[in-house]
Amino acid sequence: MTVYGERSIAARRRIAVLLTVLLVLLPAHPALAYLKFGFEIGSRSVTARWLRFPVRYFVTNRGVPGVSATDLQGAAARAFATWQGVPTAAITYDFAGFTSNQPGEDDGRTTLGFQSVPELDRVLASTSFLIDGLTGELLEADIFFNSAFAWSVAAGGERNRWDLETIAVHEIGHLSGLGHSAIGETEVGASGRRVLAAEAVMFPIALGTNDVSGRLLRPDDVAGISDLYPDGGFNDDTGSVSGRITKSGAGVFGAHIVAFDIAKGELVGNFSLRADGQFSIAGLRPGPHAIRVEPIDDADTDSFFDNVDPVDLNFRSKYYEQLVIVPRGADSGAIEVEVAGK
Ligand SMILES: [Zn+2]
Repeated sequence: MTVYGERSIAARRRIAVLLTVLLVLLPAHPALAYLKFGFEIGSRSVTARWLRFPVRYFVTNRGVPGVSATDLQGAAARAFATWQGVPTAAITYDFAGFTSNQPGEDDGRTTLGFQSVPELDRVLASTSFLIDGLTGELLEADIFFNSAFAWSVAAGGERNRWDLETIAVHEIGHLSGLGHSAIGETEVGASGRRVLAAEAVMFPIALGTNDVSGRLLRPDDVAGISDLYPDGGFNDDTGSVSGRITKSGAGVFGAHIVAFDIAKGELVGNFSLRADGQFSIAGLRPGPHAIRVEPIDDADTDSFFDNVDPVDLNFRSKYYEQLVIVPRGADSGAIEVEVAGK
């Protein structure tokens, strides 16, 4: 996938993001962050986002065992409504009708539907995009749900079946322009990596069958969508923290930085997305925050970044020495957090 600020431009290009069931890797640890898609044109960073609203979407007219096409449309509508319901974000969506076209076709129609992709045996669903490479405007985004898995639309979830609405909320986050967040905690067991907790629906690994907690957005998700489509006083009422992550005087690329709201206990994160270690976390409630920096360790780094710049994993987690007071409608002023190699 493509992340903000990292990629040379193609006129029209596809990026695909996958929600995987399990990954096998590294030891357990909490981590953090939302991320926007984007690329660079010369020295200018362009964010991939929708510019025309409502975003019109189609749903394929095919069901799978236990989930009819109408059920799919209903689950998708609830998932879209969840994102549209964020009071500080302006994005809106509209169901345009059923279609016999497939997701993944460059037909100008944003389409959600089931497809059988048994060879992707760890991929529940995936989102792909058509982007205007000059403006960053999202022109089309398609989501397929892998019918090789068992799905459910039961209100409280269903044993051994994946909750379609939960997975749709995650994929519609991508469709809207959000990348993966790393605010979650995993452990590695005999059967692979297991998610213990995710404080963002945009965490790249699904919690499990019969889990419906991902129908609800977390503060990190709300900050991400509001940062992309600010509305309702978002820019006036929230603030940001920015600065640089350094190690031995040089910038650190791909560090996770999380802002912990002392008063509310909420986590919002982002990554350092430039070689000089610069980062910014927007959408924070005004007030004191503890800032923590850590390497990615709860999923493959390519769940978050293209392999354009090497992600630095070789440093120890660290809290910034002092609390940062986030001002209302402004930035805290640049801070520098120096981390040490492992
Ligand atoms: Zn994903």
